[in-house]
Amino acid sequence: MTVDFLPPLYLSVIIPCYNEDKSLHECYRRISEACTPYIEKGYEIIFVNDGSKDHTWAIIEELHAKDKHVIGLCFSRNFGHGMALTAGLEACRGERVLIIDADLQDPPELLSHMMQKMDGGADVIYGKRIRRNGETSFKRITAHLFYLLLSHLSDVSIPRDTGDFRLINNKVVHALNSMPETARYIRGMIAWVGFTQTPIEYIRAERFAGRTHYTLTKMFKLAFDAITGFSDRPLRLAFYLSFIMILVSGFILIYILVSYFYYNAVHGWASMACIFVSSQAVQFFLLGVIGEYMGRTYQESKHRPKYIMLTSIGVKR
Ligand code: UDP
Ligand code: MG
Repeated sequence: MTVDFLPPLYLSVIIPCYNEDKSLHECYRRISEACTPYIEKGYEIIFVNDGSKDHTWAIIEELHAKDKHVIGLCFSRNFGHGMALTAGLEACRGERVLIIDADLQDPPELLSHMMQKMDGGADVIYGKRIRRNGETSFKRITAHLFYLLLSHLSDVSIPRDTGDFRLINNKVVHALNSMPETARYIRGMIAWVGFTQTPIEYIRAERFAGRTHYTLTKMFKLAFDAITGFSDRPLRLAFYLSFIMILVSGFILIYILVSYFYYNAVHGWASMACIFVSSQAVQFFLLGVIGEYMGRTYQESKHRPKYIMLTSIGVKR
């Protein structure tokens, strides 16, 4: 039975899941345990199945059958981690919302500590990784370089070495739900909305099971979403590069004139070739940058729904 109005709950936990059937039981057990102190005030655990190809959805249904705190949302295909979080944020009823991965790399046991910090008045408590266990040095180095680049390019300060492990309150949830963009880099969006944001440090564990779903291509997409979504500085590259090009061409011109008047030499070919090649390279690069932004404007202008829901269980409104 659906009713028109349901009172808000105290806590919602949102868990995006993509092929996580090996982690889900343990994930549910540990998160439920962390939620036990909030039974009276009311909580819900929202699993969002992001088009998994394994038994993830069957397990979510099974968990819902034995525990009505469990809610399941199921996408019609894989829409990506950001969309899974978005669907959870649009469906949740909690005054406070914990965002956590299904692979248990972020410890649910930190919840009570995060809740205490939020009692102190913060609107966002974000997990800051002081160490990452079990991640390849490639992942660590690329992640570090990415955050470094982003902090130089971005207009909002997105905290370094954080994932999406966060406790946020409903003011932040409303703000996020009012943002219509389809390229959803959630941690950047949370930084963008402002309010009071406080870190909590933790050691990132190894995955409970399986392997990361962030392939190199997905990582590039995330990086592009982050950079183009939160900075227009790459567009200004045109200005900086053209300035450098003018300086360089000035020097080349002097060199050509000096060779022409004093050395009588036919030096033309090498310098012409240099100018041609370098200006071509710059033009192509800038076309690429413009294309990237154009592509995104095109995507946004379609105003498509952000995701397509196949089915759901336990949702009460
Ligand atoms: N995930 C998702 N859709 C995707 C990729 C990942 O919902 O397309 C989920 C995944 O199940 C996990 C979380 O997002 O709960 C983080 O993914 P993962 O652990 O693979 O990323 P990493 O921790 O390696 O950055
Ligand atoms: Mg993970």
